[in-house]
Amino acid sequence: LDILAIESSCDETAAAVVRDGRQVLSNVINTQVAEHGKYGGVVPEIASRRHIENIVGVVDEALSAAGHTPDTVGAIAVTAAPGLIGALLVGVNYAKGLSLVSGKPLVPVHHLRGHVAANYLAHPDLAPPYLALVVSGGHSHIVEVLDYTGYRTIGQTRDDAAGEAFDKAARAMGLPYPGGVSIDKITPQGDPHAFELPTPHVSGSEYDFSFSGLKTAVVNLLHNAQQKGGTVPVPDLAASFAYKVVDILVNNTLRAAEDFHYRTIALAGGVSANSTLRKRMEEECAGRGIALYLPPLSLCGDNAAMIGAQAYYQLQAGYTADLSLNGAACMDIQAEFS
Ligand code: ATP
Ligand code: MG
Ligand code: FE
Repeated sequence: LDILAIESSCDETAAAVVRDGRQVLSNVINTQVAEHGKYGGVVPEIASRRHIENIVGVVDEALSAAGHTPDTVGAIAVTAAPGLIGALLVGVNYAKGLSLVSGKPLVPVHHLRGHVAANYLAHPDLAPPYLALVVSGGHSHIVEVLDYTGYRTIGQTRDDAAGEAFDKAARAMGLPYPGGVSIDKITPQGDPHAFELPTPHVSGSEYDFSFSGLKTAVVNLLHNAQQKGGTVPVPDLAASFAYKVVDILVNNTLRAAEDFHYRTIALAGGVSANSTLRKRMEEECAGRGIALYLPPLSLCGDNAAMIGAQAYYQLQAGYTADLSLNGAACMDIQAEFS
């Protein structure tokens, strides 16, 4: 079954055709990252406007590259939550229109479930149950993937998401947006132990994260050096920051895997492209005999192929929507669209 999938939750207008949830037939991504970079972050109003301009061409390209039309695919899938509401609505309404004229089922997909499902496109043997670390621009979750459409959140961030922390820390260091990419690039030139950054204390759940204190520590370090007329070696600070964020992510994930008896871990989301995180997880999992699944670098960031992968399983489980479907800025990964 070939599914046309559309993604427009943030600053990528994307469309893809995916076969049986596992095989990418086409995958088109139009990213606005350069335009938003001028402002140091995503400007929601600009994002919505660009989605409107780009969506017709992006969807046409994905369909024709796969040798399909809206009438020949088996279903139309779309990211309906969470994300920027004005951005989401462009994809949701376009998908509704395509579903209406083609008579094909409409499948709403949770964006973070999509990030997790990116792994299915690269790893034919990956199947639930497993533990997922979802780390992106807006979210940081440790999630039990119980089956293809069933999730239980074990831990999450209390403040900033991991990607958000990377972006804010990079901005303070004067590195270009998106900061996660910038920090990752200069990390090899720095000493990860040059600065001893604090491990944030999170009371309550031992699997939850907190990253805003780390970001503040970076800001203070830079500020204090500046006041004394000195400078901070940015590669050292970047490497130390990446080391600390990754240390926290890895420790909590491994503890959760042990406590909940998971022998399989998958990473997901934009931050799963981080080389420090990938390397450290590989080492730790190998040492413990845990099977680790990493999304390919090309599918870590926002794309529609991952939405098409998850949509296959949502459709199989009977989760379709009618034309009353709406987008939502916030939605729990454990919830279904009603
Ligand atoms: P969400 O998925 O939570 O709705 P989003 O879609 O904006 O948010 P993604 O596209 O999944 O987020 O990820 C973007 C984030 O990933 C940004 O914060 C970016 O800095 C971060 N990121 C991308 N590449 C890397 C990297 N190599 N190292 C660290 N962070 C990275
Ligand atoms: Mg993006
Ligand atoms: Fe995302």
